[in-house]
Amino acid sequence: MQEILTQEIQLNSSKISVFIRREDLIHPIVSGNKFRKLKYNLLQAKAEKQQTLLTFGGAYSNHIAAVAFAGKENGFKTIGIIRGDELESKIAKNPTLKFAQECGMQFEFVTREDYRHKTEAGFLENLKNKFGSFYLVPEGGTNEFAVKGCEEILTEADSQYDFVCCAIGTGGTISGIINSILPHQKVLGFPALKGDFLKDEIRNFARNENWELINDYHFGGYGKVNPELIAFMNQFYAENKVPLDPIYTAKMIFGVMDLIEKGYFPENSKILLIHTGGIQGIAGMNLKLKAKKLPIIDFQ
Ligand SMILES: *Cc1c(COP(=O)(O)O)cnc(C)c1O
Repeated sequence: MQEILTQEIQLNSSKISVFIRREDLIHPIVSGNKFRKLKYNLLQAKAEKQQTLLTFGGAYSNHIAAVAFAGKENGFKTIGIIRGDELESKIAKNPTLKFAQECGMQFEFVTREDYRHKTEAGFLENLKNKFGSFYLVPEGGTNEFAVKGCEEILTEADSQYDFVCCAIGTGGTISGIINSILPHQKVLGFPALKGDFLKDEIRNFARNENWELINDYHFGGYGKVNPELIAFMNQFYAENKVPLDPIYTAKMIFGVMDLIEKGYFPENSKILLIHTGGIQGIAGMNLKLKAKKLPIIDFQ
């Protein structure tokens, strides 16, 4: 992969410097980290001579968009099991599903109740009967192959940073980053959702101890936002010309900026933020905000 741009972030006054790795620029629609998480999964699917990728996701899932696109690019059929049977009639109004469908993804809409059983043997057996043989990519894409792909986010030149910060959904991305840091570095993870189970998830994959989860910036839970966060995103864009996504990266960077103000980081710290992408989700979020007559994400 080509070298990914890193840019410095404007801070008011501080003896700390902050840089952002623009993984969001890997592709305009497919999230940076989802691309990395799929790389070795696609190689494995090919090695297993599978022709179809099957995966799971919600209405605005970056992962669904990524699998649909990567499948098309690499000659796989793709099937998306989508949470929420009410969405079937609303594909045209949903930017994520519309994009996935245009990439050739075939959908199976299931109720929220059925979706909860998606990893059970019986559920998967039914899918095999219906669709034939497939390579299963887990929800959010996290497995050992995904972590291996995310071990390629940091490069040798990144040894200059003291802290590496990233947003967390399922924990695959941060696990890859943790596995590739050096002993003098620390990884800070900012969960985009509530729940302490993530620690155990990460321990399954992570091979060292230099990491910490910061649980104070989930803004009420997965997919939840408030006007303060939206205002932060708009201001961050105005100052840095970097678009953030409302589900993951905005919450993480809001958190880092807040911690800087509170004196969390030692003087002269050099911090690297990983922009994991997610920009495709903005259109869907703005539809929801508009419906509630709330301020929208507006990059100008
Ligand atoms: C999925 C996603 C994450 C979370 O990655 P995990 O490996 O699931 O922790 C972070 N940022 C963006 C933009 C994503 O799409």
